[in-house]
Amino acid sequence: MIIYKTEEEIELMRQAAQVVSITLGEIAKVIGPGVTGLELDKLAEECIRDHGAIPGFLGLYDFPNTLCISPNAEVVHGIPNNKPYESGDIVSVDCGAILNEYYGDHAYTFEIGDVKPEIRELCKVTKECLDKGIEATRVGNRISDIGYAIQQHAEAHGYGVVRELVGHGLGKTMHEEPQVPNYGKRGRGKKIKNGLTIAIEPMINMGTEKIEQLSDGWTILTRDRLPSAHFEHDVAVVDGKPVVLSTFKYIEEALANK
Ligand code: MG
Ligand code: MG
Repeated sequence: MIIYKTEEEIELMRQAAQVVSITLGEIAKVIGPGVTGLELDKLAEECIRDHGAIPGFLGLYDFPNTLCISPNAEVVHGIPNNKPYESGDIVSVDCGAILNEYYGDHAYTFEIGDVKPEIRELCKVTKECLDKGIEATRVGNRISDIGYAIQQHAEAHGYGVVRELVGHGLGKTMHEEPQVPNYGKRGRGKKIKNGLTIAIEPMINMGTEKIEQLSDGWTILTRDRLPSAHFEHDVAVVDGKPVVLSTFKYIEEALANK
């Protein structure tokens, strides 16, 4: 069952999403060559708690950390570790926080130092896929129109769209109905209605769409070990149109000032 939110509830969700946005902005300030995932994880937990919120991933399904950090061929759900990032890496950072009893959940793929043009292109196109998914999140469309828009754009660039992992409804639980696949045919699934709140999160692979899971039980990586990018926003439908509750503004400001 989809839990549609009132405008008051959507405002509470926006505040939760903004804590995640601010936290990713703090990460953007420091991430670079020589930095480790565990350092970022500590910073994120402090930032979330400083804003009166609770880390949303820590302990959820027994996940051990505040952030999911997935470099290069890792798609999502990577566990932060002590391995320093190197110039040329891309690092997907996914962050969740609970504020006002609601979850915020969003993600950004950072470029470390000098990244090859073809990998930068993967990041750019994945971010565009997110924008196209958001644009399709409006009354008059159905849920599958979101995935259709994402898949069309990704495959036009020859990329693989991960099938097994999907976006999701978001609210007082992290994963609510509906599932929001990043692929699909037009005009399938539930009609999009006002009050829908979802996390849209294209996971786009440079090569094959096929994935594997590491023996840690968490980390998802590409089967061909080519890179993968991941961008995520929290989106509500208000007055028939998409409203993005999270923002990349803090990240973009931090990256511009580096
Ligand atoms: Mg996420
Ligand atoms: Mg999510």
